[in-house]
Amino acid sequence: MPSSQTTLVQTTCPYCGVGCGVDVSCQGEALNRTPVKVTGTPEHPANYGRLCIKGTHLLETNSLHGRLLQPHVGGRATTWDQATGKIADKINQVISQHGPDAVAFYVSGQLLTEDYYIANKLIKGFLGSANIDTNSRLCMSSAVAAYKRAFGEDLVPCCYEDIECTDLLILTGSNAAWAHPVLFQRMSRARLKNPAMKVVVIDPRATETADLATLHLPLKPGTDAYLFNGLLHYLFTNDLLDERFISEHTNGFNEALASARDWNPDSVAKVCNLSLAQVNQFYRLFGKSQSAITFFSMGINQSNSGVDKANAIINCHLASGKIGAPGSGPFSITGQPNAMGGREVGGLANMLAAHMDIENPAHREAVQTYWQSPTLCTKPGLKAVDMFSQMAAGKIKFVWIMATNPVVSMPDRRQVEKALQQCEMVVVSDMVSSNDTLAYADIALPATGWSEKNGTVTNSERRISRQRGIMPPPGEARHDWQALCNVAAKLGYGDRFDYNHVSEIFAEHAGLSAYKNNGQRLFNLAGLSSLNRAQYDRLAPIQWPLGQGDAAGSPRLFGNRQFATADGKARFVAITARLPTQQTCDRYPYILNSGRSRDQWHTMTRTGKASALLNHAAMATLAMHPQDMLDSGVSEGELVTLQSAGNTGNPVILPVAAQSGQRRGECFAPIHWSATWGSHITLGALYSSATDPISGQPETKHGAVSLVKT
Ligand code: SF4
Repeated sequence: MPSSQTTLVQTTCPYCGVGCGVDVSCQGEALNRTPVKVTGTPEHPANYGRLCIKGTHLLETNSLHGRLLQPHVGGRATTWDQATGKIADKINQVISQHGPDAVAFYVSGQLLTEDYYIANKLIKGFLGSANIDTNSRLCMSSAVAAYKRAFGEDLVPCCYEDIECTDLLILTGSNAAWAHPVLFQRMSRARLKNPAMKVVVIDPRATETADLATLHLPLKPGTDAYLFNGLLHYLFTNDLLDERFISEHTNGFNEALASARDWNPDSVAKVCNLSLAQVNQFYRLFGKSQSAITFFSMGINQSNSGVDKANAIINCHLASGKIGAPGSGPFSITGQPNAMGGREVGGLANMLAAHMDIENPAHREAVQTYWQSPTLCTKPGLKAVDMFSQMAAGKIKFVWIMATNPVVSMPDRRQVEKALQQCEMVVVSDMVSSNDTLAYADIALPATGWSEKNGTVTNSERRISRQRGIMPPPGEARHDWQALCNVAAKLGYGDRFDYNHVSEIFAEHAGLSAYKNNGQRLFNLAGLSSLNRAQYDRLAPIQWPLGQGDAAGSPRLFGNRQFATADGKARFVAITARLPTQQTCDRYPYILNSGRSRDQWHTMTRTGKASALLNHAAMATLAMHPQDMLDSGVSEGELVTLQSAGNTGNPVILPVAAQSGQRRGECFAPIHWSATWGSHITLGALYSSATDPISGQPETKHGAVSLVKT
């Protein structure tokens, strides 16, 4: 039993998109609390009391060691008043000399929804530029674009409960066992409870996730769209279509089928480098199962054809009617804690706010009226890779980077470094006092982090949860929304950015989702738009959409067969599958794949502080097939130097680890370690700026590298 001095704060984990509820036991009262214990929130529907090792060790990452505690200008400590005044002056000068498109914000799926909302409102509604993009561009933007093409809006149809009521669980481009552990444990339990449930894992690597598989398809990297195009054709040729669903609730089937006609199990097996038996087994499983969920993640999204791959998956669900019913649908799993919340407020360069479109004059008018903004952007802004290339070209003069470390996480590190050198002013808001990106900051602003922040996040199943502040901000640290409002006030917009509490921002955001919403836009938080501060403080996890008076939320979409298109029908998309841009050659013969390690997060600014999280892997290694190691003359633990055609900077040096789950000619390394950790490892330096032409998401799952024993 808790002692009388012990209080319990219910909050949400700041790491992956599973969005686990976290109970923090604290000693002391209100503003002087010390968190002493972390457990999973028993009643939170995302995790029902479970946490993975990263969540369990959250408190060890909470120290003030290495924190940025004061604003700095030119490397010298200063006041918020001075720093925000300089930022506002620079924004005014740049806009008057070069126009609004010379200003950019680069933000993060780590921001809370309220931070994201204010950043988007300031730049799109008051600076008149849509040049706000986010590290979610590197994570989920292909899924967003695919949902919009198929459903008319960025709508994730499924919920976690679907795991317990499906016949067939497909995971493609996802090592959920490591990247989304609590969700994966739920899948494992569902399989144990229902031995008839089948699991198909589609991944070039035999990962821990593949251990759960009834069928593992170790396909050639980048060939997923061929596999799913072939499945669409198979459903047609084997009389496994849901003809009624197709004719009553969709458009474009014939065109999609025409694009898939060249792909039969035989040709798919050849291009995907699988056996005919493997392909046939997968197709039979999908065709015969009454229900199926296809989870997809970065292996699909981080590609030069990520949007097409996702639409090829969605096509198969539409063709078989496996959508909008329990246990069925395409289901993207987000990498970050609030990639979804950022999408909801429009924190991407090609979105407006509340799922409205920049190109739609009625949507622009609605947002401008609601915000009472003097000037609203009129065209989409630059997506992440293009944004940094325009900085490098001298077209963008001012950038404000919040809660992300693009020098490490973006592809083509040299280009990002050049971009930041070229800018006339780089502002970086971060918790930490030093990282690869802060090295380029003209102004550094101390931000709050998990346990200090207060607001909301949305997880992969559209569930909004509260992240609650446990301790007061340390030193001079401020919340990102406060820093943005301070600058807005200096720019003369104080009356439109005058919030006493974060709950007021949430209410405004929820109100905008319902404003001039005739029901066609499914993103709707009307039921939360009049929460007062006390109600907001008590808000329990809930899934949107939430119409006025709706207290229950919406676990699953499309049960009524109504999609967010003009005619209410879903759209098939004709897919011409294509191979990755970065192909191997004699000089660069190995395919480089990258992703998460089990116990680390992003560039390790938080998880790197917890010694227990280094027990699993204390340093990055390059996983190689044992035969490739023999052929290359390298032994376990020996160092190799990786080079790529585009990397003119420092080489990447890694120790090798044998991994028989690797395909021959392919290698894998984790994304987390960088120069901050004393390593010659910034994997992004090895990838080119190849992106998906629709989503702008970089192709960071398929580089071409050489390996030389060091
Ligand atoms: Fe946090 Fe994700 Fe682990 Fe849950 S699964 S505790 S959200 S890192």
